[in-house]
Amino acid sequence: MDRHSIFKKPALDGAAFGWAAGMRGVAAAAAQADIGEVVVVKDQPGRPHRGKVFAAVHAHLDDIPYYASGLCAKLISEGYTGYIIRTSNDEKCGGHSTAENILSNEQDHFRMAAALGFKDVFDFYYQNHDMDGISYIDLRGRLILIFRMLKVDTIISFNPWGHGEENPDHWVTGRAVEEACWMASMPNDFHEHMEAGIQPHAVNERYYFYARPGQPFNRVVDISSHIEKKIDAIVECKSQGDGNRGSLVRAQLARQGKRLPLLGNDDRTADRAYVRQFLLDDHREYGKQRNLEFAERFYYIDQRRPAKSKADEYIEKNAVRL
Ligand SMILES: [Zn+2]
Repeated sequence: MDRHSIFKKPALDGAAFGWAAGMRGVAAAAAQADIGEVVVVKDQPGRPHRGKVFAAVHAHLDDIPYYASGLCAKLISEGYTGYIIRTSNDEKCGGHSTAENILSNEQDHFRMAAALGFKDVFDFYYQNHDMDGISYIDLRGRLILIFRMLKVDTIISFNPWGHGEENPDHWVTGRAVEEACWMASMPNDFHEHMEAGIQPHAVNERYYFYARPGQPFNRVVDISSHIEKKIDAIVECKSQGDGNRGSLVRAQLARQGKRLPLLGNDDRTADRAYVRQFLLDDHREYGKQRNLEFAERFYYIDQRRPAKSKADEYIEKNAVRL
């Protein structure tokens, strides 16, 4: 992710980007027109989500840590089992050769996932920055298999209509996730899955990141009690995401015969202190507007249906003997 662009002004409108981006802009406007009320979501006591499964689907090592790690930590603490899927190979970020970047991002990703308490990690390794040129149907099919296999109830990912989104890995991933969520419920899609014992399964709850200025949101999640976990996740983003910036600054100052008291006396303390002080402004500043210490924002869609439809109820009540 280009983390700093969270703080940028909205990008140029769709017309300047051509047809595809323009259509995304139209879709974003439509989505913004009907997002419902903004609801502040607080911690829930106990483990109300026991037995439920969520999949966090991102493109790059540092997407989930910055956009949604507070929500992931909250859901896991409330009983969810979490899985994480990374779609790109992150080869362009890390400051080393392409092969070295792939390896260091992969290793950071495993450590980041462990810090948040994910049960398992899936890496798809599509070529970084070029995901708008991959086989889109291949990506969607892989997601459908995993959603069915894990019986995913809830996904956390990019807004598929991505207003202001400049990174193709983000919007390609978001669109494929959105489509896989409903297609996973259709028995005629990939019918061979059923032969393998994997049944159709709809994903009914969706949390889309607030990732760029202008993107819609209707859930403000209070992550104040999960902020240490969020920092745990971000400090593992060393290949990209500034997770080790604190220890790098500390070492640089030491070479100049200086120290910054904020950064403490060891690398781990320095990294955590740097993240807390400098890299959480977006979450801190928006939280303040809602009287929260820290907040993350999402466009939440709930497609759960009541066990009985109105038609079922009518038929049950009104059917008479022949
Ligand atoms: Zn990203």
